[in-house]
Amino acid sequence: MTKQHTKITIVGAGLAGSVLAVYFAKRGLSVDVYEHRPDMRQSSTTAGRSINLALSKRGIHALREVGLLDAIMDMAIPMRGRLIHATDGTLTFQRYGKDDSEVIYSVSRGELNRKLIDLAEAHSNVRLHFQMRCDGIDTTKHQLRVTDERTGKSHSISGQPVVATDGAGSAVRTSMEQHGLVKVSSELLEHGYKELTIPASEAGGFALDPHALHIWPRKSFMLIALPNPDASFTCTLFLRHEGTPGFSSLNTADSIRSFFDSEFPDASALMPTLEKDFLTNPVGILGTIRCFPWHLDGSIALLGDACHAIVPFFGQGMNCAFEDCTVLNDCLDEYGYDWTRIFRIWEKRRKVNADAIADLALENFVEMRDHVADPQFLLTKQIGLELERRFPEYFIPKYSMVTFHRTPYAVALRRGIIQTDILRTLAVGISSAEQVDYALAGRLLRERLRPYSGEAVPEHEATADPPNPPSRTPR
Ligand SMILES: Cc1cc2nc3c(=O)[nH]c(=O)nc-3n(C[C@H](O)[C@H](O)[C@H](O)COP(=O)(O)OP(=O)(O)OC[C@H]3O[C@@H](n4cnc5c(N)ncnc54)[C@H](O)[C@@H]3O)c2cc1C
Repeated sequence: MTKQHTKITIVGAGLAGSVLAVYFAKRGLSVDVYEHRPDMRQSSTTAGRSINLALSKRGIHALREVGLLDAIMDMAIPMRGRLIHATDGTLTFQRYGKDDSEVIYSVSRGELNRKLIDLAEAHSNVRLHFQMRCDGIDTTKHQLRVTDERTGKSHSISGQPVVATDGAGSAVRTSMEQHGLVKVSSELLEHGYKELTIPASEAGGFALDPHALHIWPRKSFMLIALPNPDASFTCTLFLRHEGTPGFSSLNTADSIRSFFDSEFPDASALMPTLEKDFLTNPVGILGTIRCFPWHLDGSIALLGDACHAIVPFFGQGMNCAFEDCTVLNDCLDEYGYDWTRIFRIWEKRRKVNADAIADLALENFVEMRDHVADPQFLLTKQIGLELERRFPEYFIPKYSMVTFHRTPYAVALRRGIIQTDILRTLAVGISSAEQVDYALAGRLLRERLRPYSGEAVPEHEATADPPNPPSRTPR
């Protein structure tokens, strides 16, 4: 197999860029990575947005392939399900999967990124260039413009493929858009987010169950908490920017504490630094970015959040970006180093799935804040797990297809719609999963669904023609 280009450039040493650097390095390619931040291993720079992330099957698969899984699992905290906190303090546990083999893992974003950068750097064919900011591309010459942030000197890079993993605000995508080479749509939520902390208890232990993702669902807003290895929890409040309640109106220590005391009393009692954290920490924006195409011939491709930023409610942004890397690597295995062909086939495989997880993530926001406390929702979840036990060849719950399998997201979305309809039919007039008419269930499943093909990716399902994005909406 000839390596038509043995050198490749990556923009951004974030989560996707550093995993991709390792995939390429293992293939023997010569890799240059340009990252605009200082080396996070030597500075106090935080790794970016959320402090911890939920890692699941697709991310685990990529980490196993690049050889980092064991090191990450050493610091990961398994979360078996959602623990729902009602305002009156009642707790309800909802298991995520069929048993304890199906869990998601809370991992530190910073530690994960640092370990990935260490691993990339351990390969002699990878060169990491920190404090080197990409300013965009010269589209006529297909050159990348890079500026050294310490000296202010700029230079151009050309003659080798570039993969831009520079995140949701991608300079490369923006530059392609300005030259009319890519259409972008960006839809912001009216909700933003703020990170807060529940510290370890006085005895040094976890103040809440560490093996659950805690949710305080309150319809138009919610609080969640994920455990950290130091026994603290990182909480994230999702709330409208404007209105009451809204971030803009919660601007005094008293209003913040009284909001928490009335809406999340059990959490509030565990947050001694709430007022200070709230007034100091920034409000993050949440949105979905879709674009097309994702590449410019064989010269430039966008990957990860740079081409498909999604809202965080399915815990899949990083997992999806890692899967982008896995699939790109698979394409190189299958088709060699014809980059134009590789980027085209890869884009065709991924675009339809990135669009699907973007929709699923938006849907899950409504599920998390509005439905998780609803008894009818809990009943259909129970029935879903029972259907999986009785008819595993036909029924895997949608959450499980996304989180515990590598079912293409587009397949999970489509099967999920049919499955939800079947679950609703089966749940009419009953109050427990034991009362379901399982003969009817079997009939409906066989009539309406093809047997579940597990992790195999049916080619035609993964490669439907990607739609053009709607025109850009103002941010
Ligand atoms: C609140 C929140 C919670 C989340 N929780 C989860 C979760 O639980 N599970 C999950 O899977 N995903 C989660 N995500 C999504 C996840 O954070 C992203 O999908 C993931 O970080 C995407 O990785 P990336 O490498 O594409 O982009 P990024 O991680 O953003 O990395 C981009 C890199 O490019 C660098 N860069 C940017 N611009 C330039 C430039 N001009 N020149 C050079 N370098 C540049 C940046 O410094 C950075 O290092 C969450 C997101 C948010 C906001």
